[in-house]
Formats: sequence, structure tokens, C-alpha cells
Amino acid sequence: MTKIYAIANQKGGVGKTTTVINLSAYLGSLGRRVLMIDIDPQANATSGLGYDKNKIELSSYDLLLEEATLDEIILHNEDFNVDVVPANPALSGAEVELVNAIGREYRLQKALAEVNGRYDYVLIDCPPSLSLLTLNALTATDGILIPVQCEYLALEGLSQLTQTVELVQKYLNPELQIRGLIMTMYDGRTNLSRQVVEEVRKYFPGKVFRTIVPRNIRLSEAPSFGQPINHYAPTSPGGIAYKILTAELIKGDTKK
Ligand code: ADP
Ligand code: MG
Repeated sequence: MTKIYAIANQKGGVGKTTTVINLSAYLGSLGRRVLMIDIDPQANATSGLGYDKNKIELSSYDLLLEEATLDEIILHNEDFNVDVVPANPALSGAEVELVNAIGREYRLQKALAEVNGRYDYVLIDCPPSLSLLTLNALTATDGILIPVQCEYLALEGLSQLTQTVELVQKYLNPELQIRGLIMTMYDGRTNLSRQVVEEVRKYFPGKVFRTIVPRNIRLSEAPSFGQPINHYAPTSPGGIAYKILTAELIKGDTKK
């Protein structure tokens, strides 16, 4: 069965894209069939896997506007064993163009029916907003993975996100679950990081991944080389963390 996860948090800079790129690449390296979908107009997941976003001809924009099929859009990345639905700057117009479209929240869900069963994992990188693009992702998925940065006020905004999840469950996708929260950019030298993890665990009991992603410069360097961390610096603390996180995700999924 295909697991479809949206990586979402309306806060920017919390590690969504980093998590999508590296989970996708580690899943690919383990022989899983992975489709990574970038629906953020900033297209950072696309460029992080080595593509020039300005040279992308068909993107998730064309998918949402039903101007191309998934098969026409998908790029097969053999280096990382990941299939990619890239984003490009055109996507920033999709929001407005979809406003009056029929079934506007269901576009991605409908498109994914086309590849049902062909992948073990579909991971969707969401923009930092609770916009129509994010709603498309939440409507199309089994679960949401929420990266949370270990910093002051980390919990702020999570209540808005959980409210959105509840609304989506009620009106668009009754199957939607919070698959888990991923603590990112952890700094073991500070009490603050530890306190934030504790606090988030308290508010979301049993929902926080045991693996914590440390703040690691290698993770922030890798995208400028167009490489996921398992290629760029697999033995770095960030590389190891995402490897273990991937194993934890797979283990949790096979138990269910
Ligand atoms: P989002 O997609 O939520 O906006 P990103 O994944 O783009 O967040 O991360 C924001 C910035 O922080 C990027 O420059 C990224 O390279 C960097 N970053 C993400 N995770 C880490 C980490 N664990 N350690 C160090 N830098 C990180
Ligand atoms: Mg991002």
C-alpha cells in the first residue's frame, strides 16, 4: 500500500524541505519506490535534488491545473532513486487560478489516483502557509508529518495547524492523521532545545518521533550542491539523524 504523507507546517524555515529531500533520498537508497512532490512555489525541494527550477517545463502547477498528467511531469532521478514532481515559479499563480475551479481542493488527490500502487511512499513538500496548495496536499494524504524547530515559541502556530487538520478531516479527508512531529535543528548545548522537545511531547503524546534532527551545517550546505545528505555527507550528525528517522518511519508504518 502506498503511504502518502504531506510535510507541512505553516511556519517557514522549520525544516520541511530538508526533511522531504532527505527522507525521500534515504527511502530511495533503501530500495523503496518514492515519489517526491514539490508544491511550494519556492521550489527548494526541486533545486535541493539538483534541478534548476527555472528550467522546469512541466511542474506540479500543470498537475493542479490539469494541463498535464503525472506521467508526463514526473522526472526519474536515478542518482537518488527518487521520482520527482518538481515545482517551478509558475506555481505561485496556481492559487489564484484555482480559486473558482471545480474540485479545487481535490486536484492532487485525483492526480495521485493515477499512480496508485506504483510507489511505496509519496512525500509532498508544502509551502509555508495553510493555502489552497497545502489543502490539496492534506486532502490527498494519509498523514501529515510536521517538522518543528527546537526554538522559542515552537508550539505557537501548532494549534492553528491542528485546527486545520480537524477541518480537513471534517470536510475534505476523513482519513487524515497526524503521522508525527519531527523535532529539527536541535542544539544539545542549550536548555531551550531540550525544553521545547519536552513541551511538544507533552502536547502531542506519542506523536513525536524519537529521532531528533540536530542543527548541522552539512544539512544546510547540501542543497547548494543539489544533493541530499546521504550523498553529500552521510556520516555527518545530520546524515545519521535522517537515516535513523527514515528507519523509524518505516518501522512505524509496517507495524500498522
Ligand atoms: P522550510 O522548508 O520549513 O522552510 P527548510 O528545510 O528550507 O525549512 O530549512 C530552513 C533553513 O534551515 C534552510 O536553509 C535549511 O538548509 C536549514 N536547515 C534545515 N534543517 C537544518 C538542520 N537540522 N541544521 C541546520 N540547518 C538546517
Ligand atoms: Mg520549504
